[in-house]
Order: sequence, then structure tokens, then C-alpha cells
Amino acid sequence: MGTIVGIPRALAYHDYFPLWKVFLSSLGAELAVSPPTSRAIVNEGVRLAVDGTCLPVKIFYGHVSWLIQAGVDSIFLPRLISVAPKEYICPKFMGLPDMTAAAFGSQARFISPVVNLTRSPGLLHREMEGVGKGLGYSAREIRKAWDQAAAAQRDYESFLQQGNWPAEYHCRGATEVAVDKPPGAPDLRIGLLGHNYVVYDSFASMDAVSRLRAMGAQVLTVDMLSPVKIEAQAARWPKRMFWTSGRRILGAAWEYTEMPVDGIIYITAFGCGTDSLTAELVERTVRRQSRIPQLILNIDEHTGEAGVVTRLEAFVDMLRWRRTR
Ligand code: SF4
Repeated sequence: MGTIVGIPRALAYHDYFPLWKVFLSSLGAELAVSPPTSRAIVNEGVRLAVDGTCLPVKIFYGHVSWLIQAGVDSIFLPRLISVAPKEYICPKFMGLPDMTAAAFGSQARFISPVVNLTRSPGLLHREMEGVGKGLGYSAREIRKAWDQAAAAQRDYESFLQQGNWPAEYHCRGATEVAVDKPPGAPDLRIGLLGHNYVVYDSFASMDAVSRLRAMGAQVLTVDMLSPVKIEAQAARWPKRMFWTSGRRILGAAWEYTEMPVDGIIYITAFGCGTDSLTAELVERTVRRQSRIPQLILNIDEHTGEAGVVTRLEAFVDMLRWRRTR
């Protein structure tokens, strides 16, 4: 039996799972993915995290703890520094392997290749080669696995751009998909903003996507927009936004203002440093560029479901009322 590598269903999982899955499984690793975020996982993450940690990192700790208790041999936790030239990821991602190791001590072994595309694309290949060699494979086999993984990632991104959801991709071939279908033809279009690990995590987003779809709205995400258009819109900003996620959110907000959307909802994570700035910039941009109503939902581990549902319902009602006028 091969080694069991755990993958926490949190943070960068929501962006790169197809890449990691194909790469590691092509190299013979057996993968164990933690289950969707639950109240128990969040409580465990809150117990382990230091005060002031943002909600997504607390959720991440809860998933790591679940995998350790499940008995995996190691946990895949890349050190993401830069995933696009001249852009950076939030510093919490950079320090995540150290923070996680400090929280869990010697309970787990972490596989942490460094991803820093600003420094040198060649570094990524060397790091991935190190992961593959650690699993006992040759440079040729590792290159082949990486090429297959990169193709899977491109396929995933293009699937999302066609208006689909990650859960639909992961369930491809299954008879059921894990995303609620809208009850009928949607009569509203809502542009959603937020980090993918908030938007696509039904706990962190308080299930906003399913709720909006159940209310009869078509929901768009940043992943469904053209990356070229997002980049062009983000470049209109007078000062360069160098955080990858913030840049995508800003570009998408600007793009939504030029699209036929009825409303814009930005789901922010409590304790997120980048969101505190990006939300302010988004709010001003949308107000200046358009008359599209916007709603900012800030979620933390204490957020009550009833409060979120009331706000979403009121927002959707208001959008329909505007339509009738
Ligand atoms: S960008 Fe915000 S939510 Fe994401 S890890 Fe950094 S502080 Fe946390």
C-alpha cells in the first residue's frame, strides 16, 4: 500500500485541488481529503488557533486536525508565496507551514514545496521534483505527472469559466452533484465576490450560494469571468494591487459594474487583513461606476445562520422591487 497523503479541504484546496490530486496520485500516493467543513471542524480550529487569526485559517487548522486523527502519513501543505509573477499571496499563506507545525508539533509530517513564481518559475519544478523524489520516483516520472496535473488544472479552470461550480467538477461522472439547482429559470443575476475558500466553503459562506440559487438567482463567481478581462479591469486601478486574490476581486467588481447584474455581494472573512482594504475599494468602485446595489457580508465563527438568511432575503427582495420599478 502506498503512503497516505492528507489534503485539508480548506484555503488553497479550493483553487488547486485538481493539480495536487493528479500530481500526487500519478506518483502513487493514496489521497485522503478531509470532509466538508462542519461545526465540529470549526470548533477544533478555533481551539487550536491563536486569537486574531482569520476564520479561513481557523477552518484550515480544523481540517488538519481531522486528517491527523484519521491517521494520514503526511499532509500536503505547500508554502504559497507567489502564484503569478509580480504578485503575492497573503502573508498568512507564506507562513502557514510554520504556523501549522507550531500548532501541531510532531503530530504530523508536512510536505511543503515552495511556490514562488515571482522569484523563478524553475524553482517550482525543483520543488515538485523534491516532492516526487520523496515518494520514490524518477525525474522523468515526476515531469510526466506534473504535465498531467497541469493539464487537469487547466481543464478545471476552463470548466469553472463556463459557469460551473467546483462541486460539479469534483462530482463529474457521478449521478448527483453537490450543488443545489435553482428551482426554476432564475430572474435575477448576482455577482459574488470573496476569496474562493470562503465562497466555495458552505460553512464559511453560510451556504450563501445555495440559498441565493434557491431564491431564484443566478450566481456568478470570479472564476466564471474571463481572466483576461479581470486583469484588464484590475489594471485600471491607479496603484497596482499586488495581492493575487485582492486583485482578482477588484478586477471582477469592476467587470460586474459593466455587466447586466442586478446586485453584487461580497462575502468577507472576519479577521482578514486584505479584505478590510479590498472591501472598502470595492464598495467605492461599485458606487462610483454604477447604480448596482451591493451587500457586504462579514462572516465569523459566531455568525448566526438566521441573520445571514434575513439579510440575503431582504437583499433579493429589494432587487426584485427595483426590477418592478
Ligand atoms: S487573505 Fe485574509 S482570509 Fe485569506 S489567509 Fe490572508 S488574512 Fe486569512
